[in-house]
Amino acid sequence: MKYVLNGSAVKNPAEDLLVCLFPSDPPEQVDTIGEEEDGMIISLRPCLSTICAETKFIYGGKHYYGRSRVPFSKGDDRSARDASYEAVKTAMYRAAQDAGCAHEKWGALTGVHPSVVFEKEFRRTGGSERARQAMTHRYFVHPEKTALLAEIHAVQEETMLSVPDRAVGVYISIPFCPTRCSYCSFVSTPAGSDGDLIGPYLDALCREITEKAAILKEHNVPVASLYIGGGTPTILDEGRLERLLGHIRDVFDLSACEEWTVEGGRPDTLTEKKLHICEIAGVTRFCVNPQSMKDETLERIGRRHSADETRKWMAKVKETGMILNTDLIYGLPGETKADTEDSAREIMRDFRPENLTIHSLAVKKGSLLKEEDFAKNLQNTDEGALESLYNEIRGNGYSPYYLYRQKYARGGTENTGWALKGDACIYNIQTMTERSNIIACGAGGSTKLLLPGGKAQRVYNPKYPKEYLEQQDPESRDKMIRDYFGGTAYEDHTDR
Ligand code: SF4
Repeated sequence: MKYVLNGSAVKNPAEDLLVCLFPSDPPEQVDTIGEEEDGMIISLRPCLSTICAETKFIYGGKHYYGRSRVPFSKGDDRSARDASYEAVKTAMYRAAQDAGCAHEKWGALTGVHPSVVFEKEFRRTGGSERARQAMTHRYFVHPEKTALLAEIHAVQEETMLSVPDRAVGVYISIPFCPTRCSYCSFVSTPAGSDGDLIGPYLDALCREITEKAAILKEHNVPVASLYIGGGTPTILDEGRLERLLGHIRDVFDLSACEEWTVEGGRPDTLTEKKLHICEIAGVTRFCVNPQSMKDETLERIGRRHSADETRKWMAKVKETGMILNTDLIYGLPGETKADTEDSAREIMRDFRPENLTIHSLAVKKGSLLKEEDFAKNLQNTDEGALESLYNEIRGNGYSPYYLYRQKYARGGTENTGWALKGDACIYNIQTMTERSNIIACGAGGSTKLLLPGGKAQRVYNPKYPKEYLEQQDPESRDKMIRDYFGGTAYEDHTDR
């Protein structure tokens, strides 16, 4: 969709909303739009303590208009920027609504974490019902989605009651996989593609873990949850897995740690001994991620295992007594909504995992599907299609407890994590909300440090294993984290 932008720097929010509204017509900034062309002309201007935005939407030869005024605190750059973003998106949304093109259930809200916005509205308005109304009034979010956010908020509040103040979540990254799934845009490296990087990587990772654990101990910061993710951490052979888990036990103070998760992910990397190593080390949760229970789909997306292998390993994890986390993806190539529903039904009926996350396929840059132009065939016509599945999951005793959105997600739908009562994953809540700091170790890791005023500072590790091994100055990265917990003045230079 073409657009013209007059005024200050609001290119990103304008494009984010256009992607949600017109997913099969990528945004294109131009200088002018002819009277016969489809496109939006967006203008923005500050007026005293209000940002005013106007949009003229030319669509099918007709003109539609949207206006918005959002107040900001004078002298506060962040408040002015947030008001600009909100004004431009709501003016655009109103124009699209006027033209009958605004089918998006998330309204003018475009970010990754709608539940963080809900939490802010909850605090601002003082209650769930009011927060729901505010989300609909300010951002046009459909009541179906505000109800989902309210349910999630209630479960998060209850789950986090047991987490001590200042307690962090720790993330440890193993960015290697047996093969690359066709939808994956993650930094993961197929094991063996680059010689044996895993050995030296594990040495460097253990050094970083030692350093981070020392910082937390030095400042009496409790660890509430540990999450070993990837990639596929169980790509490590049994000896290496044992070494990693043993090292974690040796260096961290885990006396306040209620939850320790290992992402098995790919059934083709699992052995009985690996499960046993996890159990003995004290791992409490184990992820087996089926994505689909159809063999044809698994083959199509480049997974090197069958649905029967997934069944076998889900059953084995249940036998151990560890909590079972599972993932499905809605919208995989060749799959319909009924296929995802069948997979979810089977998993709930036969394995009753404590956690089930339903992802919506998002075709992102860097994935094989993107290269194949798979996204071009996806239309935003099946929007809301997951509601009946959500109701079925609810009917099986699960509640939603975290949610996030991704650009280009199938049908504009979200990813939602569901848990049986009392089994929500603390780490998932810590990482998806702004309630806790996250300390990340390993390639692709992103440490999150909360700052006053609802901001967060990110400290990024190098993305890929090779860069991680070659990094020049890990000490300065760790110094930032040490200074943060030591209360030394902290410069906020990468706010979100
Ligand atoms: S298992 Fe996950 S991280 Fe690994 S290639 Fe597949 S989607 Fe990517």
